[in-house]
This record gives sequence, structure tokens and C-alpha cells, in this order.
Amino acid sequence: MSFKLQILGTASAMPISERNSSAQVLDVHGRLFLIDCGEGTQKRLRQMHLSMLRIEAVFISHIHGDHVFGLFGLLSTMAMYNRQQTLHIFGPEALRSILNFYLSFFGEGSNYEIEFHEVKAKSLEEIYDNGKVKVSAFPLKHKIECYGYRFDELLSERQLLKRSPSSYAYCSDTMAFPQLADYVRGVKLLYHESTYTLEMEQKASQFFHSTTKDAATCALQAGVEKLIIGHYSSRIRDISVFEKECRDFFPNSVAADDCDVFEID
Ligand SMILES: [Zn+2]
Ligand SMILES: [Zn+2]
Repeated sequence: MSFKLQILGTASAMPISERNSSAQVLDVHGRLFLIDCGEGTQKRLRQMHLSMLRIEAVFISHIHGDHVFGLFGLLSTMAMYNRQQTLHIFGPEALRSILNFYLSFFGEGSNYEIEFHEVKAKSLEEIYDNGKVKVSAFPLKHKIECYGYRFDELLSERQLLKRSPSSYAYCSDTMAFPQLADYVRGVKLLYHESTYTLEMEQKASQFFHSTTKDAATCALQAGVEKLIIGHYSSRIRDISVFEKECRDFFPNSVAADDCDVFEID
């Protein structure tokens, strides 16, 4: 039994030599959930020995290129592998027309269905349940419509006697706002973007992003067990600066790197 998070990309607006754009895979007992799909996701999946055919659903936070440019190549490769299983894709309304555009040019010969589910959560709202995990979406505060996703493991009454359910929340591009801590309350692992360090605070509010302090404060207020951060500004190459700043507010913070794996128990 596993509930683990694999980090495929931790760059912000553009990929750099040692970092890909945003993408993560949550493995829930062998069933894979892809969260955002920046450029280079396919290659990272291969590097990390994650089968793209085992991806059950994709959750896209928003339609900025660094979160979605990898999706089209991935869909195409799935078709080349003769995927048969329906792929569920969740995301904001704008993703529907982008998918339709993609399919109109590149969809021929594909043997699997893409089922698009429009997300328009106004608060924490359940969007998916496969019996093993329940997924909820919640609104973020970014330049454009943007959502975070929360994954709560579902356990039988018998399993609950032995352990507590695992949980993970993904806070993609966002500026800080008070309700966010409620949406991610009590999760075992929280990912929160931290594009900027404290001295770049002004840029964070200008571009609707978060600082290290914003991420750590959210983790503290939400009472999570552990915080991981990413989506680093390319101006800062040494990410230990981000980690150190977060730890001043929330000690159990880790600056995630591409290809890191976090077990959530
Ligand atoms: Zn971004
Ligand atoms: Zn963005």
C-alpha cells in the first residue's frame, strides 16, 4: 500500500536546465494521479519509472503554460501506446476548448476517451471519488481562474482502527488569502508554491504569487504535518534559501527538488 508524491517539476514561469515546469504524480496504492503537466512531463515520467498508462486522472490548476504545455505531447504518446482506458481530465472551463483544439488536429487514431470535467469550485468541493481516494477542488487567488486540489485517502472501518487516512493538498499558483488554510486543514502533506523569498515580497503581490512566509504561514494556520514548497523564481538558483526562510515560521518545511519522492503515511 502506498500513498506517495513524486515531484516532476519545480520551476516557475519557464523551465531551466535543472528544473522542469510544474508537474507532480500522486500514487495512491498504484493508481496514479497527475497534478499539473508542465513542459517536459513525459520525460520526467520515464526518468522516474512512472507508467503513463497507469495515470487515471489529470488535475490541471490553471491555464498558464508552465502548468499545461506538457499535456498535449502526453496525450499523443498515450494514443501511440494504444491506451484503452478513459482518461479523466479536470480543470477550469478554458481547458475544454484547448482540448477540443488539440483533438481536432491530433485526436485521430486515438483509442481512448478523454472525459473532461469542468472545475468551478467556490470553496472546498468534492470532484472525484474512486473508492480509494476522494479528491476535492478549491479556489486559489491568481491572475486567472486557478484551483488547488486536495486528496483524502478513503479507508474502511477496519483499516481506520489501525491507522489514520493519508492526505495531500496541492496549492498551485496563488497569493495568500485567509480561507486557504481552511481548505487544506489538517493534511499530512501540503505543497504550497513559494515563488519568491521574503525580500521579493512586492513581486509576490504584484504577480499573484506567494513568498516563503506565505507558504509557511498557511501550513502553520492549517495545522498540517509537513510542508513542501516549489515553483521557485529562476532568479534564485540555491533553493536552500527558500527552505531556511520557511523553517523560521514552520520547522517541518522542505524545499522540493525535481525527482524528489515524499511518502505520506
Ligand atoms: Zn506557474
Ligand atoms: Zn500561473
